[in-house]
Amino acid sequence: GERLKAGLSRTRQQFGGGLASLFGRRKIDEDLLEELESTLLMADCGVEATQHLIDELRKRWKRDRLETADQLQEALAESLTDILLPLEQPLEVSGHSPFIIMIAGVNGSGKTTSIGKLAKHFQAQGKSVLLAAGDTFRAAAREQLQTWGERNGVTVIAQDSGDSAAVIFDAVNAAKARGIDIVLADTAGRLPTQLHLMEEIAKVKRVIGKADAGAPHEVLLVLDANIGQNALAQVKAFDASIGVTGLVLTKLDGTAKGGVVAAIARQSPKPLRFIGVGEGIDDLQPFRTREFVDAVFA
Ligand code: GDP
Repeated sequence: GERLKAGLSRTRQQFGGGLASLFGRRKIDEDLLEELESTLLMADCGVEATQHLIDELRKRWKRDRLETADQLQEALAESLTDILLPLEQPLEVSGHSPFIIMIAGVNGSGKTTSIGKLAKHFQAQGKSVLLAAGDTFRAAAREQLQTWGERNGVTVIAQDSGDSAAVIFDAVNAAKARGIDIVLADTAGRLPTQLHLMEEIAKVKRVIGKADAGAPHEVLLVLDANIGQNALAQVKAFDASIGVTGLVLTKLDGTAKGGVVAAIARQSPKPLRFIGVGEGIDDLQPFRTREFVDAVFA
């Protein structure tokens, strides 16, 4: 809870701070709702979610005769919770062994860092983990993963040459042979506009299915919260090519754009499996709506 609160401080300033300055001044009226609308848009909630939240608030203001700032803030927190709850679907890894997780995203979104954090997360649950260094475009990514694996006693399957599909294919077979519980497969970063790379990652996914029928069991898209509304386009593009089953939203700590979770919930809903709230190994948390909303309004 505390870590999350600290991590979301900038979003809180934008959201909660914006609200406090609005509510502190005067009674609730249409002007205030209009300013609140701007505040929500600036926190990157997106037009759709913002409109929905304001409509809900207006309804409740009239129906429940809200008068004080506290009451309005409480009503807003409740509406936000309603919007976000469908995103709260923790990743269940017990159904298959090995459970194969493919990780995609643009360069710099936090894929490699999140893989390290996820490995630690699953190890803490007593699961064995194997990493596939599938980002074959950047030697540094492979090295970063290998170093991390050595330091933490986690096997990393990598190749000096060979494409992403080949490395991950090998890794899945190694995991099967060794009775590993979870495979985390890194892929090279790419932009949705790089169509040939979007085709390539679709191929990587097909090859994983050849190594193990029904795999990958989870296709995680890693998104940097700083990109705000662009997250929506990334979800749609990656979903079209590889069928995204879950999201990791990183760097919520450095940004005031935490409202993007509301935009995702309304406009491109996918289970939000984890949120990143810092660079440390423990700074990846399963997304829990109520904790998140509490942290935003704390
Ligand atoms: P990749 O290119 O997608 O593999 O991205 P990296 O994993 O190398 O991460 C890029 C940068 O973002 C690194 O400096 C990470 O430490 C940083 N980073 C990743 N996740 C988070 C997070 O949740 N919070 C913060 N503050 N930094 C993060």
